[in-house]
Amino acid sequence: MSLCVSFQEMSKWTWSQLERSFRLNAPFNEETITETILLELKDRHPTDIAIVSFSKIQEKRLGADWEFWFTDKNGQRGIGWRVQAKRLYRPAEEYSALKPSETASSSQIQTLISQAQSQGLVPIYCFYNSVSDPNDVAQGWACRSFSANKWLFGCSIAHAVDVHNLGKRDFKAVSQISMPWHCAVCCQGFSRPESDLPQRVAGVSRNLPNFGRDTDATADLSTDLPEYVKLLAQESVFRGDISGSEIDFEETLYGLSEGESKQLRGVAVFKHTEADE
Ligand SMILES: [Zn+2]
Repeated sequence: MSLCVSFQEMSKWTWSQLERSFRLNAPFNEETITETILLELKDRHPTDIAIVSFSKIQEKRLGADWEFWFTDKNGQRGIGWRVQAKRLYRPAEEYSALKPSETASSSQIQTLISQAQSQGLVPIYCFYNSVSDPNDVAQGWACRSFSANKWLFGCSIAHAVDVHNLGKRDFKAVSQISMPWHCAVCCQGFSRPESDLPQRVAGVSRNLPNFGRDTDATADLSTDLPEYVKLLAQESVFRGDISGSEIDFEETLYGLSEGESKQLRGVAVFKHTEADE
């Protein structure tokens, strides 16, 4: 099974689950959606995805963002995203936490952007969507490889600088600067033919609508990956037989014992799979 198919199916799953949560008026927050998607992806691709969650770290040091890394099959070359997830709310069809007037959320977006920039990561918003009128999806459709389909817009991505500059939080406005998230792993239209996973992700990242317009935004592949990414990309980690407890592993990876906090919820590494060639 390819990552492409799995990302598309997670998008459909997200759309239908959000639909259900609206219908039943039951809670279903971003953290739950993200963790469920990662669990499902890991189950489908146990040897291609490594995930470390910082959920055991005391709450005050726990941030909202994830790091997603996409590497070649050897885990030597890759590109990183710093990701913040936001779900859509109905009936307003807004991402309420993006409200410009909310001090807390404006500091959240600043953290996302500044932390990403300081580490050479692409700051990405991942939106979880389900809207009442599917035509709203077709209007903002930026994927050139697959035709407009509401199910494929259950998970969408946008550059955080663009979201910040937009200053709006309604679906119609935000979807205009977003792409279906499957584009990052599926679509080769923004990179050369036969590109591998990290090349595809970099190409799509650079071609997100606006792409951090008027800033020095970058989305470059690196061959000098951070130690924790290289560690996570090791075969033993993908097989799940890493030694030591999760906390020890986290402290080794991130130097959290030295008081450094990246305000992260976790790190996920996706490796290029032969199924995606
Ligand atoms: Zn696409």
